[in-house]
Amino acid sequence: MKPSEKEEEFFARMEFEKKKKIEEEKHKRLAEEEKERLKLLHYMQCPKCGMDLIEIDYKGIRIDECSECEGIWLDAGELETVAKLEKTGLDKFFSIFKK
Ligand SMILES: [Zn+2]
Repeated sequence: MKPSEKEEEFFARMEFEKKKKIEEEKHKRLAEEEKERLKLLHYMQCPKCGMDLIEIDYKGIRIDECSECEGIWLDAGELETVAKLEKTGLDKFFSIFKK
């Protein structure tokens, strides 16, 4: 292989890496835009039936209840908080949702 060929190969490789980086940035941006779009689409919507969630506060636990299927959703870490409630506290907690 002539030295100039090796150089060409090197620059082609560089060119590829440069373009790849640009593409990767684009993918990252797209992923963020998609995440943002999905969030807008799904925020405070029931993951099961898609209807609006109603947010209530009970002892510092933010509970989202579906206005349609009555599913109850907890935010990250809140299950642990609920699990720590005494039996009576737990009964009170669930009585909120009983009709
Ligand atoms: Zn629902």
